[in-house]
Amino acid sequence: QPRAKSRKIRPLPKDVVDRIAAGEVVQRPVSVVKELLENSLDADSLRIDVSTVRGGLDSITIIDDGTGMRPSDLRLACERHCTSKLVAADDLRSIRTFGFRGEALASASMVARVCITTRLRGDAGGRAGGGGEDGEEEEERFSSNCAYKMSYRDGRPDPAQHSNSKPKPAAGRHGTTVAVRDIFHSIPSRRRALEGAGRRGGEGGVRSDPERAAERQAVQPSEQDNSGDRQSQQVNEDGDDELEKQRTAAAKDVVGHVFGNAVVGELLPLKAGEGDVDAVNLASLRAMQQGVSAGNEGKEEGAEPEEGPNESNVDSDGNKGASQPNQQSRFAFAYRATGLVTNASYSVPKSSSAFLLFVNDRLVECSSIRRAVEGIYADTLPKGGKCFVYLSLEVPGSHVDVNVHPTKREVALLHEDKLCAALSGAVRETVSGRDASRTFTVAD
Ligand code: ADP
Ligand code: MG
Repeated sequence: QPRAKSRKIRPLPKDVVDRIAAGEVVQRPVSVVKELLENSLDADSLRIDVSTVRGGLDSITIIDDGTGMRPSDLRLACERHCTSKLVAADDLRSIRTFGFRGEALASASMVARVCITTRLRGDAGGRAGGGGEDGEEEEERFSSNCAYKMSYRDGRPDPAQHSNSKPKPAAGRHGTTVAVRDIFHSIPSRRRALEGAGRRGGEGGVRSDPERAAERQAVQPSEQDNSGDRQSQQVNEDGDDELEKQRTAAAKDVVGHVFGNAVVGELLPLKAGEGDVDAVNLASLRAMQQGVSAGNEGKEEGAEPEEGPNESNVDSDGNKGASQPNQQSRFAFAYRATGLVTNASYSVPKSSSAFLLFVNDRLVECSSIRRAVEGIYADTLPKGGKCFVYLSLEVPGSHVDVNVHPTKREVALLHEDKLCAALSGAVRETVSGRDASRTFTVAD
């Protein structure tokens, strides 16, 4: 048998690299829905309409009333690694937007036909933002009285429809509409697999896939979190927890909507927190601004910095401005958690357990936290018992690494073991605090 010869190493062409990356980011139609929703939330939208045809295989359309894009930005919108959200590597440590890598639209446009229609918000009369930072290079004029539209192919404006990559004027409201059609048209095997899943048993199909519904709807609690957040904290400090009750009710509403009302009656509100998240956040931002950066970081961490309570004195009496430029605070342990968890008597035979974790409003997976929390239920529940857990965790931005997975689904957290202990402890307290009756039954 002739054996293969060693081959020369060479760099992959860019279009191949892009295609491989696209396959990682967009695994199924729901991945596109998730990314587009995140973009709309990042754009400060208050209303987002999502519609899909055949479980997204034929088309996905998302209409938002967000900031919109400048017509001149349409050219780069689907180009890989082009983003308006991240400028320098340091920003990664304080990122609060869902997106930051400029991969989503690029990936979508590699596996599907993408068309974006957008109109800047609050844009009436005057210049349509076409000029500005790098406007001189082209003398294009964009009207401020209409929307602009661009169709894409493989990350670029479709040359068959746009000469010179020029967007076309179109009718449209303020905000952005993204239409994604014929997903995976260039990957027949994947399309067939998804179509097959759709035909097999109505329940498991592409259309009614529970995971898809969950992901799509699960963004809603975070949306509510976003809008109510700052306000509710201040009100709470004044001793008024009316807003918090409203938020719990709103969260329960969403859970009922997505997971059925059976679970809602079994939910207990959870609240936990230690240290001052905002103070640590502020201190780390300041440290970053002062240029205390990566170089020192390793040393600091090795030096076992002090942690915890001492942080809370940074701003408790409102003199944030005077806080010491405390580099160690970047590593101080601080978190806030709210959530809804089922009591120990919850058991719905057909549904499986659900574990929804938001970290700084981002829906993520973190297997260690999940294991720790589910462990509490395993201890309390009769065999085969189910639990439903929704946790919204807030930690200092610099303590989360969102950049560990192509779908941004997994995150790495600083102080992960402590968080596991704290959260499972909070769940244990919540569950055991109000569930004397079941404990009795179980023992029986
Ligand atoms: P990322 O979200 O990581 O920046 P995307 O590929 O998802 O990358 O989007 C690229 C850019 O297109 C964004 O940075 C943003 O400027 C713009 N964009 C995408 N969707 C919207 C939207 N719905 N409203 C306003 N701008 C958007
Ligand atoms: Mg995005």
